Amino acid sequence: MARFNYLEPHSLDEALRMLADGGDGVRLVAGSTDFLIRWRTGFWRPDAVVCMQHVPGLDAISFNDADGLSLGAMATVQAIEQHDVIRQRYPALAAGATAFAGVQVRNLATIGGNACNASPAGDTLPALLAYDAQCRIVGPAGERWLPLTEFFQGPGRTALQPGEILTELRLPPPPPRTGGLYIKHSPRGAMDISAIGAAAVVSLADDGACRRVSIALGAVAPVPMRANAAEGRLIGQQPTAANIAEAARIAAQSTNPISDVRSGAGYRRDMVQVLTQRTLQHAVATAAGGPAPFGELRRLALQTAI
Ligand SMILES: Cc1cc2nc3c(=O)[nH]c(=O)nc-3n(C[C@H](O)[C@H](O)[C@H](O)COP(=O)(O)OP(=O)(O)OC[C@H]3O[C@@H](n4cnc5c(N)ncnc54)[C@H](O)[C@@H]3O)c2cc1C
Repeated sequence: MARFNYLEPHSLDEALRMLADGGDGVRLVAGSTDFLIRWRTGFWRPDAVVCMQHVPGLDAISFNDADGLSLGAMATVQAIEQHDVIRQRYPALAAGATAFAGVQVRNLATIGGNACNASPAGDTLPALLAYDAQCRIVGPAGERWLPLTEFFQGPGRTALQPGEILTELRLPPPPPRTGGLYIKHSPRGAMDISAIGAAAVVSLADDGACRRVSIALGAVAPVPMRANAAEGRLIGQQPTAANIAEAARIAAQSTNPISDVRSGAGYRRDMVQVLTQRTLQHAVATAAGGPAPFGELRRLALQTAI
């Protein structure tokens, strides 16, 4: 295995300086769960690694009614899965976290690493998209904010420029009467990458119509994607079984899946329809009746058989 210099910054400024000094040969690591695999196989051969584990404050998770949820990029998937406010107010994200790998990987893997790795199949990404996450990015030119919808540029490619670090994901506060769910379909279970992932978040108006709908899909296009046309089919409508079924059909049409070892393209498209329908049904039911207990959410989030 190729050797590298190991660098351990203790502040964000120090990390930025190390990235700038290292140029093309330096790679930032967070939990290292993606990094170690690519380094061991020789796919990544950095001269130096900047490990973010000792930069204070970047793992903070906080919520307030005005600003919503702030997730430090170094927050682990396990911390997100365990967070009471996330379970109550952002259940699709809690579902994405609980369907993610096993507990050992969840204890290391970070939410920022999942976003920056930019796998179309990343399990937290559909929920982050569905909750309209914004990215705080810090780099040599200062700080900028970017909607997560513009962050993903292709498999493994993001809008990050050389020397930039993702420091925070910010999710606006969900309106009252909002429900949501993410379902990962993976025939081999959580330790496998998802074959298809679907998230839906629905907010209901007082008359029961859909005030806000977001549907986001994983592993069915080069990047995790929002299904805008399907959302438009439901917004302002009553969430009847027929309207939900039609929105799910439109969601499936909007995908562009590939065939690979995990699934055929046709199967993926068919399953988007099934999973979108299920996530919408659950989102509507919990928007009206309150969040499901976490045990129920966990059972629904990972589907090995459809
Ligand atoms: C056994 C196993 C099972 C897995 N199962 C799943 C699963 O079920 N679902 C799933 O989605 N993923 C899964 N993964 C993939 C991986 O765990 C996730 O993608 C994880 O979230 C990556 O986070 P990390 O902190 O470990 O990233 P790292 O490996 O540290 O980094 C990944 C990439 O992101 C960059 N990066 C990380 N943080 C930042 C930042 N703040 N700013 C800029 N760049 C950054 C790094 O430079 C690197 O290119 C699995 C991995 C393994 C090994």
